[in-house]
Amino acid sequence: MTAPVIVWFRDDLRLADNPALHAAAASGRPVVPVFVWDDDPPDGRTPGAAARWWLHGSLAALDAGLGGRLVRRRGRADAVIPDLAATLGATVVHWNRAIVPCDVDRDEALVRRLAALGVTAAVGAPDTLHPPGQVRTRSGGAFRVFTPFWAVCRAQGAPARPLPSPARLSFAPDAVAGLRLDDLNLRPSTPDWASGLHAAWTPGEAAAQADLAGFVEGALADYAVVRDRPDQRGTSRLSPRLRFGELSPRQVWHATATAGDGAGVEVHLRQLGWREFAYHLLGQAPDMARVPLKASFAAFPWRADAAAFRAWRRGRTGYPLVDAGLRELWSTGWMHNRARMVAASFLIKHLLLPWQDGEAWFWDTLVDADPANNPVGWQWVAGSGADAAPFFRVFNPARQAETHDPDGTYTRRWVPELARLPVALLHRPWTAGPLELAAAGVRLGVDYPFPLVDHAAARARALDAYARLGRACG
Ligand SMILES: Cc1cc2nc3c(=O)[nH]c(=O)nc-3n(C[C@H](O)[C@H](O)[C@H](O)COP(=O)(O)OP(=O)(O)OC[C@H]3O[C@@H](n4cnc5c(N)ncnc54)[C@H](O)[C@@H]3O)c2cc1C
Repeated sequence: MTAPVIVWFRDDLRLADNPALHAAAASGRPVVPVFVWDDDPPDGRTPGAAARWWLHGSLAALDAGLGGRLVRRRGRADAVIPDLAATLGATVVHWNRAIVPCDVDRDEALVRRLAALGVTAAVGAPDTLHPPGQVRTRSGGAFRVFTPFWAVCRAQGAPARPLPSPARLSFAPDAVAGLRLDDLNLRPSTPDWASGLHAAWTPGEAAAQADLAGFVEGALADYAVVRDRPDQRGTSRLSPRLRFGELSPRQVWHATATAGDGAGVEVHLRQLGWREFAYHLLGQAPDMARVPLKASFAAFPWRADAAAFRAWRRGRTGYPLVDAGLRELWSTGWMHNRARMVAASFLIKHLLLPWQDGEAWFWDTLVDADPANNPVGWQWVAGSGADAAPFFRVFNPARQAETHDPDGTYTRRWVPELARLPVALLHRPWTAGPLELAAAGVRLGVDYPFPLVDHAAARARALDAYARLGRACG
């Protein structure tokens, strides 16, 4: 009987442009597709609750695409996979190269264990545009600034063309037993809080490809101008697809790049570049979710204020755009990039609460919670990251709302208790007079909170804290 090969799926839950699956199919051997759920990863970063919800749906779709053949196991992949290989008599294990540093370390252990069993590790291209570590400065160093990093990426040319889904796959007839998907306990049950996620998303490769096609034919043309408007559907919303590998960045790159020469094309490719840069940074600083890249920020004089943190999480800060973003997140597991920046800035600068706390909240609530993009986003806002926004640039949330949600559509959707206020007051309800509030049916302090902090005072406090950090660090 022909020895089977194992294909180990990780964050690449798709059939198309999957180098590991492609190579396994090309070998003509019977395939055993495997997914291993590790609820105790070495970096301690088990996917958060919203991402686990997504993972459940994505695994169900992958399994359906594989004719129900996906073998699910639980444990450490570097122990589970060699066990399976031994049980099945498999001679080759295919997977795609890891991009998260702790997975890179585990993969090295896996390769050694397989070699000891006489099993070949066949490792395909990673889910980045360029292999991690390949984009270097002229002197061979690591980039810390995005623009020159991206210039070198662009100079290296287009990434490889995406591979098609295997035309034919044969499966090992009596493969090993696995766990039922429900046994992985990825979905919330008591209570099931995920109805908003269900309403907003359909995980899985088919829906991902439809979303990509829809974006390229639709919003991409105006992406350069509309991407900063949370009130419009101006971005691709592909982030959870990329996070779980329902799409590869190569597929998104090529679909974008071949969509014409509109202004949106290069701007969208550049956003994929930020994902690339985030993984480049994570490779240099695996602890980025905890440790500021600029070491001086470790001594930042953060406050402790559990009540303010709770109000922020619940979208009850009294600043409507901040609250709209946080409620969009809670309801749908996703937040527009502009709202992410404003909400993160508010936590860090207005409330002076540690960015790590905000990162952890996003980690638990985002369906796209990403080991690289999330800490890089937070450190960018905090000013402690590579090529970050300077700390002293403090967003004025009301002004941000006036610029990026000019008609108030986004704010009204997520903060409906203010919906009847005219737009001039919607973004600054504390400036409304009693008659204006009464006409809109708003009781400030009852239906909607007074601002947690005054913008000017909070800004002054943030700048003072930053100055103290500067003095402390000499
Ligand atoms: C505080 C904060 C936290 C963030 N956390 C995450 C996270 O956990 N996961 C995540 O994918 N993105 C994160 N981002 C980046 C960005 O907000 C999202 O990638 C984007 O909003 C996703 O929407 P989209 O798919 O419509 O993006 P598009 O604008 O259509 O961009 C296409 C893709 O490019 C990548 N991308 C876009 N912007 C960025 C960026 N600034 N940094 C890195 N990659 C980017 C994403 O993969 C995205 O799907 C964060 C940003 C901030 C400010």
